[in-house]
This record gives sequence, structure tokens and C-alpha cells, in this order.
Amino acid sequence: MSPADPYLHRYATRAQGMTASEIRALFAVASRPEIVSLAGGNPDVTVLDFDEVADVAARVIRERGASALLYGGGQGLGEMREQLTGVLAAEGIRARADDLVVTTGGQQALDLLARLFIDAGDVIVAEGPTYVGALSAFSQYQPRVVHVPMDSDGVVPEAMADVLDRLRAEGVKPKMLYTIPNHQNPAGVSLTEDRRRAVLALADAHDLMVVEDNPYGMLDFKHETRTPLVTLAPERVIYVGTLSKIFSPGVRTGFVLAPHAVRDKLVQLKEASDLCQSNMTQAIAEAWLRTQPWREHVRAFTELYRERCDEMLSEIEVAFPPEAHVAAPTGGMFTWVRLPEPIDTGALLPRAINARVAYVPGRGFYADGSGKQEMRLNFSYASADRIREGIRRLGELIGDELELLHAFGR
Ligand code: PMP
Repeated sequence: MSPADPYLHRYATRAQGMTASEIRALFAVASRPEIVSLAGGNPDVTVLDFDEVADVAARVIRERGASALLYGGGQGLGEMREQLTGVLAAEGIRARADDLVVTTGGQQALDLLARLFIDAGDVIVAEGPTYVGALSAFSQYQPRVVHVPMDSDGVVPEAMADVLDRLRAEGVKPKMLYTIPNHQNPAGVSLTEDRRRAVLALADAHDLMVVEDNPYGMLDFKHETRTPLVTLAPERVIYVGTLSKIFSPGVRTGFVLAPHAVRDKLVQLKEASDLCQSNMTQAIAEAWLRTQPWREHVRAFTELYRERCDEMLSEIEVAFPPEAHVAAPTGGMFTWVRLPEPIDTGALLPRAINARVAYVPGRGFYADGSGKQEMRLNFSYASADRIREGIRRLGELIGDELELLHAFGR
């Protein structure tokens, strides 16, 4: 047991509820090589040629060292933002460099947006399950997160209408809808075209601002593009993007596309938080996008993940109990599994790690305690052989667990 925290009575209210997750401790163990980790969220950057990355980085320092080694402006380097408009164009979004703010990954964008918009007690509407990092960014500002269920076509508009009507009846006006419409983390599914329009009609009817978080849009297994919400309702939607899944999370380059009034506030918050984005990583990312065939790399990432996803799904079919519900991902890096009652994926995790396989239990992806029978599995990082082995170990464990639980009449 850890000793009592001598600072406990000094923390700000917003920090009182923060607890070190037990899961993080387990993950420290899960990084051991004998454990097949299906828990992480890393891309497989071995798709990239590291000599090329090294050349780009060396050239940046040699040729533009004077600016790369200095502070920059709070909005981000102009050349970087210019290249990011090319990334947006690939998603079907027309934007100007001046419409963007560069952030430390999409994660900081979520933090800055929450800091800008969320007072304690405000309501955020989000998919259930949703991105755990968004929940932790939001929770610092003490909102109430209300989830809307999803099915294989993404968030269910009728369920969203019910949630919004219920909140209205309570006299609550939600501050924002947070959504990941493409290859959602963790659910793996995408919002269909009809539903995009239905969701935005609801946002209109309830005067709801929308934060559209799109790290995985280009990792589409059929190489299709879906209509970004921001193109359908540019005044209502704030768009968050990142280079983490199409180049590298190590460069920590994300960005926000927002109306200019919001953009200006974000620049002020960014400067208050860390003065500016690293000029060094921006210069490397900018040169990478400008000089390398990055769309071919995205295609290579996507092909690799599609193969690994197929391996994972076919092994699950053999190894998991037939009652398990498994999402068929449209792209991205994750699938989502719901196991039969009375399984508790949180309680099962230490035993899974003993059996040398790791996943993320479902509960962390909800703000309301649901997700007990659910788990997220990652297919972007481990090799196909390791994925198959990991799923076999997990399937065996789940089978044993169900047998045991039933034997004890639970
Ligand atoms: N949003 C979603 C949905 C994510 O899955 C992630 C990363 N896993 C992020 C935002 C943040 O990523 P980054 O800060 O690396 O851009």
C-alpha cells in the first residue's frame, strides 16, 4: 500500500478525483516481450524507412536550424499549417493555413478545447464507448459526460435524439457533442453518410457545437473517404486532426480547424500552456509531408492493419465463445468485443497478463461505469502471428472463466 499522500489537502478540486489507474500499472508489466500486447494504441512505424526520416531530420537541422532550434508562434509554423491543409484536402476538407492551430497531438487539442468550453457541471454528449484520452482530458474540467449508444453504423441518431430530449426536459443544455465519426476508437466502426446528416440535424435542433475528432479517417480498409462533418456544418463543427496515425505520434503534431474567434482563443490557451509547438518537430513533419510520398505510406499502414485485422477476426471466430459480439472494423487500429455475462474484463486482466496476453478493459471508455463485459483489442502493432497467438490465449482464458463462473452459479 502506498503511504498517505501528504499533499492531499492541498490539491485543487479538479485534481481530487484523479487516480493513478491500476490498468497503467498492469501495462508496465504488459510491455514485457513474452506478453502479446493487444492493449496499446501505437501505429506500426516500421512501415516507414527510418533512413529517410533521418535524412529529412538532418536536412531540417542543417538547412533551417536557426528557426528549428528556436521558439515559434503560438499558432504554429506557417509552412507547417500550409502542409496540413494538404492533409485536410486528402480528407475532403478545404481550409486555409490561417484557419489552423498546431497542437501537441490531437490530445492537446482536446485539452485546450475542454479548457475553452467546459465549466464544472457542463454536459458533454459523446459516443459510448469513447476515446479514453478524451475522457481524461475532459474530466479535468469536471463535466458530466452523457453517452449515446452505437451500433455497427456508428452512433444511433434515434438514441441521440432521446438523450437530447431527456436533457432538454431536465433543463440541461449540453455544451458539446464529442464524436469520432471514422473508424472509432475504441469501437472500430464508422458513422454512415445518412447518419452524419441526421446527427448534424440534431445538433442544429439543439444548438449543439460539435467536436469532430478524426485521427483515423485515412486508415480506411476500402480506401474510401467519408464526408467530414465539418464540411457539412463549418460554423458548428470544430475539427481535430493529427499526424500520429499517418506519419508518427513521436512528432506530436496535431491541429485544430476552427472558426477564427475560436482559433484566436486556442492560440492564447496554447501560449499559456507551452508557449508554442516544438519548432523542431514541426519542421521535420513539414519537410516530411512536403518531400515524401506520405499518401503511399498511409496506404501501406492501412493495408498492413487490414491484414492484421482480418487475422484477428478470423482467430476470434475460432477461439472466442460464440456469444461474444465482435465489431467488424471499417478501418483504424481497434476492434471492440462484448463478452457474455457475467464476465468482468477488468477482473480478468491480471489473469490475462499471467496468461501472457493484454487488452484494455471496457470500463475506461465510459464515464458512467458501463463496459464491464467489453474490451478493446488493437491490431496495428503486433505481428499477425503474435495476434493469432494472443487471441488463442485470450480465448482459452475466457472459456475457462465462463466455465468457472457458471460452475459457481454466477
Ligand atoms: N483522438 C483519438 C480518438 C485518439 O485515438 C487519439 C490517440 N490514440 C488521439 C485523439 C490523440 O492522439 P495524438 O495526441 O497522438 O494526436
